[in-house]
Amino acid sequence: MTQFEVFLSPPHLAGNEGALIEAALTSNYVAPAGPMLDRFEREFSDYVGMPCVAVSSGTAALHLALRHLEVGPGDEVWAASLTFIGSVAPVIYQGARPVFLDSDPASWTLDPGLLEEALRDAARRGQLPKAVIPTDIYGQSCDLDAIRRLCDAYEVPVLCDSAEAVGSRYKGRAAGKGAWAAAYSFNGNKIITTSGGGALASEDPALIAAARKLATQAREPVPHYEHRSVGYNYRLSNISAAIGCAQLAVIEARVALRRAIFERYRAALGDLPGVTFMPELDHGGSRASRWLTVLLIDPERAGCDRETVRLALEAAGIEARPVWKPMHLQPVFAGARCHGGAVAERLFANGLCLPSGSAMSDETVERVAAEARYCLLREEQAGQSVTRRAG
Ligand SMILES: *Cc1c(COP(=O)(O)O)cnc(C)c1O
Repeated sequence: MTQFEVFLSPPHLAGNEGALIEAALTSNYVAPAGPMLDRFEREFSDYVGMPCVAVSSGTAALHLALRHLEVGPGDEVWAASLTFIGSVAPVIYQGARPVFLDSDPASWTLDPGLLEEALRDAARRGQLPKAVIPTDIYGQSCDLDAIRRLCDAYEVPVLCDSAEAVGSRYKGRAAGKGAWAAAYSFNGNKIITTSGGGALASEDPALIAAARKLATQAREPVPHYEHRSVGYNYRLSNISAAIGCAQLAVIEARVALRRAIFERYRAALGDLPGVTFMPELDHGGSRASRWLTVLLIDPERAGCDRETVRLALEAAGIEARPVWKPMHLQPVFAGARCHGGAVAERLFANGLCLPSGSAMSDETVERVAAEARYCLLREEQAGQSVTRRAG
């Protein structure tokens, strides 16, 4: 295992975490309940502009939403193929069948045109999905209003996977707001962290109350332990919430840093042949968090593929990663239906995520960019001399 000097997206502490953890310890709420958890939920709700329940992971948040919808065997749940498995694992937990949809090349997020066609066919067959899960990939919000409009026509709820989009905005709102529900992640590699954690948010307070109950073993509100259904132990720890309070206070600065890192990489590498950067769509008042800086390397024009660059960075102690491998290419989902898929496949083949942690110094960003640039120029020149010899 390579020892990296520069990680892809390590935690970036705000400074106040220790004091808030200390306060949580002093209160003796060393438990998945307590004043820091209440405070974190209140502050996160204010930030996204809708009620929320804080839970142990983003995956758990998605699971609670699907469970609330009573998704089960025989049901389909549709999801973006270009995503992380946490987006779709809960579909399997519920015994339902995932169906995948390709991305729009302009945004890399779920293609509303494909969704429209697929919904029309599904309605004709009488097999509409129980939910649609678009993903705000790398912090780029999906076209939520368009997706909502299509799904509303068939009364299909939209569960937005905004795990990577804490801090992103769509039409002036927090990413995910406007969906039936949205899930966020505070895993250690995300833009802010609680070490591990997540939240489910919705404009429907009844949904959040039901999810909160399911997350606490579906316990009935009576003094003894009474259960009319079986739930989960999914609540966030009060100690983790203390970290979350410190982190949430600096979210705007973190987004600004991630966006500045993206611009620095683009300035350093954007002129190279065959190199392009992830687009940012503006639906009016939109802002991508740029959780990770992602570029595409077209091997025909660049003279090498993304793997050559990734390995060169790895040899220099720098952790870079391919773009998420699409779900329809995952062995575990072999046989799952997929509408389209070529866009996500190309993004996986050519996409490289560069180190994007907000604590990175300008010098480190420049060093990573210089290593990538050196590799790309060397390979391009080698390619040209081969062409010259051949010609
Ligand atoms: C991180 C992530 C999740 C899962 O979040 P966890 O908190 O790690 O469970 C889900 N979907 C996407 C797209 C993610 O990036």
